[in-house]
Amino acid sequence: MDHDVTAASHSPSPFKVHTFGCKVNTYDSGLIEKNILKSKPAAEVTSSIHVLNTCAVTAEATKEAVRTIRRLKSKDPLCTVVVTGCAAQVDTGAFENLPGADLVVANSHKMQIPEILEDFFKGKIKNKVFKSNIFRKDDLEAGGGLETSHTRSFLKIQDGCNSFCTFCVIPFARGKSRSLSIFDLVNRVNELHRKGFQEVVLTGVHIGDYEDDSQETKKYLEDLVETLLLRTKMPRFRLTSLEPIELTGRLLDLYADPRMCPHFHMSIQSANTEVLKNMKRKYTQAEVEDAFSRIHQRLPKAFVGLDVIAGFPTETHEQFEDTYLSLARTPWTRLHVFPYSERPGTKAILFSEAVPWEERLRRASRLRELSSHRVAERAKEQLGTTKEIILLKNSKNRIQGLSRDFWNVQIEGELSEAQLQSQHEIKVFISSVDVQSQLSKEIILKGSSVSAVEVFA
Ligand code: SF4
Repeated sequence: MDHDVTAASHSPSPFKVHTFGCKVNTYDSGLIEKNILKSKPAAEVTSSIHVLNTCAVTAEATKEAVRTIRRLKSKDPLCTVVVTGCAAQVDTGAFENLPGADLVVANSHKMQIPEILEDFFKGKIKNKVFKSNIFRKDDLEAGGGLETSHTRSFLKIQDGCNSFCTFCVIPFARGKSRSLSIFDLVNRVNELHRKGFQEVVLTGVHIGDYEDDSQETKKYLEDLVETLLLRTKMPRFRLTSLEPIELTGRLLDLYADPRMCPHFHMSIQSANTEVLKNMKRKYTQAEVEDAFSRIHQRLPKAFVGLDVIAGFPTETHEQFEDTYLSLARTPWTRLHVFPYSERPGTKAILFSEAVPWEERLRRASRLRELSSHRVAERAKEQLGTTKEIILLKNSKNRIQGLSRDFWNVQIEGELSEAQLQSQHEIKVFISSVDVQSQLSKEIILKGSSVSAVEVFA
């Protein structure tokens, strides 16, 4: 996802932030952009500046960044390329000797990019790599977040992780878990509401780890959500990934407030207890299934998305079948399936029982098949319902919005200019479901009027 800031910044040298990976990176890109805009790159700099905020969750993510650098430099050899983000922290070697990477600024130094750029353009830089031990990073930058549309904003509440799951490289890229205080976050949400935003997505690397120790007694995720509901007028809140055991009864109770969007994303990774143990996850198959049924009892129409890894080292055919059958019999809406990817520095890479790549792909496609049937069924259940949507993006022929329960909705027919510009929710009656190719998650919808709309998954 790229963000061109030439026009906005009036800065002499156009710069672009290229964001890879997760919502936390989207948030960080907003902060990098604000910092560079504030610093106004030196007037004499005419070449364009590209900042790549990279991802390292899979080996492919790092390769994608290298491809992007080569593409940018072949298009404009004089441009300046700054590589930052998780791949710069854990795969530094991939960029250190890469001619196109002018500066490599790891997550440890991410917020010093303006100063580093200034020194670079003054020819003061001897070593292009800026990196230190990420586990020494205590601070967490507030005030970031790219407003992805005029109605919705991502807000980072926490960064880093203390779990060290055996397949995951993120703690080495982002350091130990640290959180913004409830006080700061309430102020930030009120500021976004004053700007007219209708939805805030609370995001982080491991939001279940949220902990505010700035007050006498430690406060946790439930306290944050409760306080935001009490002390702000934001119409919609959405949480990003939770682990099954992090969905406590108290947190689920807070969904009684209609401002909490009935949408859950659970990073379960597997539904087989033995595999979960080898992944160093803190829950069992029973706890996974329990979380789904607790959601289903309280919010039967909620949208439940899951992350699942296929072909984790040691996963036998029987264990995979166990996961498959567990998912086939439990209530959820859609799976995000990832074939296991070796990551240097993680424990799982040392496990002897690797699953052949072809077998990982075979298991992944079975899970995706299961998911595409499930999401098509759920999409059909939306027929005849009325949804409150916020508009996300509208182009000449497509007006799209997002419902509270995380369905993308295309509006048929014309909306008045006032409606198009309005930041408030629009009520939409769902009249048809168009299920074309679920695997791509991109569904083409045709539609005419507001009262008769098409819905897509
Ligand atoms: S909880 Fe596990 S998978 Fe998630 S970021 Fe932390 S180490 Fe990675």
